Amino acid sequence: MFDKILIANRGEIALRVIRACREMGIASVAVHSTADADAMHVRMADESVCIGPPSGAQSYLSVPAIISACDITGAQAIHPGYGFLSENANFVQIVEDHELTFIGPSAEHIRIMGDKITAKETMKKLGVPCVPGSDGGVPDLATAKKVAGDIGYPVIVKATAGGGGRGMKLAKTADELERAFQTARAEAKSAFGNDEVYIEKYLTRPRHIEIQVFGDGKGRAVHLGERDCSLQRRHQKVFEEAPGPVIDPETRARIGKTCADAVAAIGYSGAGTIEFLFEDGEFYFIEMNTRLQVEHPVTEAVFGVDLVREQIRVAAGLPMEFQQEDLTVKGHAIEVRINAEKLPNFAPSPGRISQYHAPGGLGVRMDSALYDGYRIPPYYDSLIGKLIVHGRDRPEALARLHRALGELIVDGVDTTVPLFHALLQEEDILKGDYSIHWLEKWLEQNLG
Ligand code: ADP
Repeated sequence: MFDKILIANRGEIALRVIRACREMGIASVAVHSTADADAMHVRMADESVCIGPPSGAQSYLSVPAIISACDITGAQAIHPGYGFLSENANFVQIVEDHELTFIGPSAEHIRIMGDKITAKETMKKLGVPCVPGSDGGVPDLATAKKVAGDIGYPVIVKATAGGGGRGMKLAKTADELERAFQTARAEAKSAFGNDEVYIEKYLTRPRHIEIQVFGDGKGRAVHLGERDCSLQRRHQKVFEEAPGPVIDPETRARIGKTCADAVAAIGYSGAGTIEFLFEDGEFYFIEMNTRLQVEHPVTEAVFGVDLVREQIRVAAGLPMEFQQEDLTVKGHAIEVRINAEKLPNFAPSPGRISQYHAPGGLGVRMDSALYDGYRIPPYYDSLIGKLIVHGRDRPEALARLHRALGELIVDGVDTTVPLFHALLQEEDILKGDYSIHWLEKWLEQNLG
């Protein structure tokens, strides 16, 4: 086992990893930009190293600075968290070239899944059901028209290098295709430096269901059920739950096994998430994320496992602590993402936290790096906390969420907490009756 791990991240996810390290008796090293000198992850880690100025590109994404920080502190492994360098295959290669361990899958697997066309081809071969669409990239408008005509409108044009909901354009009719094709390409070029796009059938009322998988890198893998992340704004998740309100145990076992077998077949190592759209009882693969997800705590709650601990164990060459037979769903968990943003436009709201009080009590987990007097810097993601509740069933989890949101105090900045208070008044949310388009429509009608 490692003696010391460096966490190449900030905020709540850096704390999450530091906590796992501490429980395992492993020393932790935080890295930080000059803007984060007073951040909670720096205070909580055993050691810290300043790696650059505020801009992410010059600090949390600076590979030489992070490798040097390992050198200085003697850290043997790097946990990337999510975002930043977590899905950067070149970074993984460099880490390995320096005889350090990357806590995550191999560079090869990150590369395959990072390119959505290759990912889809790979998954299709492994027997995973995919959204109907083009066979690979679509080079020009004429091909786009032919493909869209064949699969039928509406279609969605997507960037093969896409992520974070960018480079995705809907075409409802043939007339809209030219514009969708050109803008998706332009957006992909500027966001990812790669303008390759592909086309998929646009599903009109699917749910977003994702399967958590975990591999030991030696050909053994398990699944940890699904998360329903259908409540999204601009293709970004805001509310996630496990189990999915419309997934029964047989369906879970079936799609779970398909996913576990697929990652076992490629010798996948560590945590991964296979994302699907789910409509009329059918699953359609959209992408795989080769890292820990923001919403992993809902899975941890219902399965009673520590996914970060498992990631560290597997990276150290130890076996997984669970087998498929041990993994059963217990109760219901919900996570809400609390952002420092001002409604109704979700404009970033950085600034000083004058008062912070985290909710507590039975079945409540608050993952946040906030504290009284903390100044949220304007340079990074606006996620400031995740509130996770766990109950014996969905109604109990909802009641607990309502209660916990009422206890939470975040003063000094605007947050998305009022959105969740409002959502908990909605019959559809209480019944679990929503698709990926529900929230956008609701926002238009209620805040628009
Ligand atoms: P990203 O990597 O940018 O997150 P994804 O491929 O995971 O992109 O898609 C993000 C979201 O976009 C999905 O959760 C869904 O809401 C929507 N989406 C993607 N593909 C389709 C599709 N074929 N039909 C309808 N919605 C889609």
